[in-house]
Amino acid sequence: MEAAEIGLIGLGVMGSNLALNIAEKGNRIAVYNRTGAATEAFMASAGDLAERIVPCYTMEEFVAAIRPPRPIIIMIKAGDPVDQQMTALQEYLSAGDIMIDAGNANFRDTMARFARLRDTSLTFIGMGVSGGEEGARHGPSIMVGGTEESWKRVEPVLTSIAARFDGEPCAAWLGTDGAGHFVKTIHNGIEYADMQMIAEIYGIFRDGLGRSAGEIGTIFEGWNRGRLNSYLIEITASVLAARDPISGGAMVDMILDKAGQKGTGKWSVIEAQQMGVPATAIEAAVAARSLSSQKSQREAAAAVFGGGHADFSLSGGAGLEEDLELALFAAKIGAYAQGFAVMAEASREFGWNLPMPTIARIWRAGCIIRSQFLDEITKAFTAMPDAPNLILTPAFAEMLKQSLPSLRRVVAAAVASGLPVPALSSALGYFDAYRQARGTANLIQAQRDFFGAHGFDRLDGKDFHHGPWGSGLQDFARL
Ligand code: NDP
Repeated sequence: MEAAEIGLIGLGVMGSNLALNIAEKGNRIAVYNRTGAATEAFMASAGDLAERIVPCYTMEEFVAAIRPPRPIIIMIKAGDPVDQQMTALQEYLSAGDIMIDAGNANFRDTMARFARLRDTSLTFIGMGVSGGEEGARHGPSIMVGGTEESWKRVEPVLTSIAARFDGEPCAAWLGTDGAGHFVKTIHNGIEYADMQMIAEIYGIFRDGLGRSAGEIGTIFEGWNRGRLNSYLIEITASVLAARDPISGGAMVDMILDKAGQKGTGKWSVIEAQQMGVPATAIEAAVAARSLSSQKSQREAAAAVFGGGHADFSLSGGAGLEEDLELALFAAKIGAYAQGFAVMAEASREFGWNLPMPTIARIWRAGCIIRSQFLDEITKAFTAMPDAPNLILTPAFAEMLKQSLPSLRRVVAAAVASGLPVPALSSALGYFDAYRQARGTANLIQAQRDFFGAHGFDRLDGKDFHHGPWGSGLQDFARL
């Protein structure tokens, strides 16, 4: 029998769809699942594609069905199951074979797995896959971390199944070991911020302006034809237009306001903090999900402090709806700037040499944050690959100059009327602090020197690093 080009373990939602996508693009694929019944059910649902799929029920026949060096995608529950699966698989593999973890792994686990195989003749790829079930079936965005040689082996299959933007595949090799999973993690962090900012603007329309879900959906539909064109704005418009089959009212109005999270947003915040890179809009979005889950406490606080909001109104500016659109656009620039800054620092710290224009390029289609905007980011980083921050590229500096006044007006009005806008205001605070050439950390340094003799550098460069705080310390001692 003709050998399969690639193998896949794990016929859950993601694995089944990825396998069908691989077969559909003309690649022969061997599949295996811990529970054989799932393999049978999968084959029964594969239709004509079944002729390019080799179902296997033992590890031995699975490995034998693939052309060496064998790329094997592991698409199972993240965490310990992946290590167990790797161990079980390892004894059947031979030199040059490549284990590919395509689940949502923490990149630190990916680095450990890569290191674990370093002294064997086998290699490892950590592969971030975005786009959910639909993306896996019809074209995901694929972020690969591993050796360049192993990427070359899988490149034809992966580029054949990836989403396309202007004909270019949204799959790329981004660096060694954990690079792919790290970039996927930051993708998800940005996704959290993007979603939260959209939700905050929705909140202003709903609670500050008394607009119905349907009316807000129509506005978002219009925005999707402009600068905010993106998958998330598109689905938001559809969600807001949907009717509840039970009550007949807007579906969104019937949904409990508690948001779940699986961990990648939190990981991106933790890594940003570890590296000392501000990612305040992403942090605000992760925190907002946590606060959303504290429903009973929020109800108690509303009873104590009142949950009512004054009417939201804007004066001056481009007009209410355009101001809100521009505010969302400016804040979105902030979230992406922060995400890319975190990746730039990680690239230095882990020696990945992450290609920023390529990352923006493979996010333009297939993934949840896909948008026209990412094409602008691709162009900006291509023109200025060493830009220290997205907002310092000429194109984004100009976009920000045009939209920042709207963000300021919207945040100010929301704060005045008691409407929560933590992610929008974090983005604004970030810009204001980032563009302040003379900040206020001189006072922080003085305080640190006062209580801890931490020392400071002087503006004039003179070799004098402690303040004349002696009398202050004596005052403190007398208390
Ligand atoms: P699940 O995470 O629920 O995983 C189901 C699959 O994992 C089944 O094939 C199951 O086999 C297998 N499995 C579970 N435990 C073990 C084990 N100990 N040993 C071997 N196999 C095991 O399904 P999904 O398809 O949703 O997700 C797969 C991965 O993709 C996860 O890492 C997820 O985070 C990631 N991901 C998911 C996305 C999504 O939208 N769902 C998007 C992007 C990534 P069995 O049938 O025998 O139980």
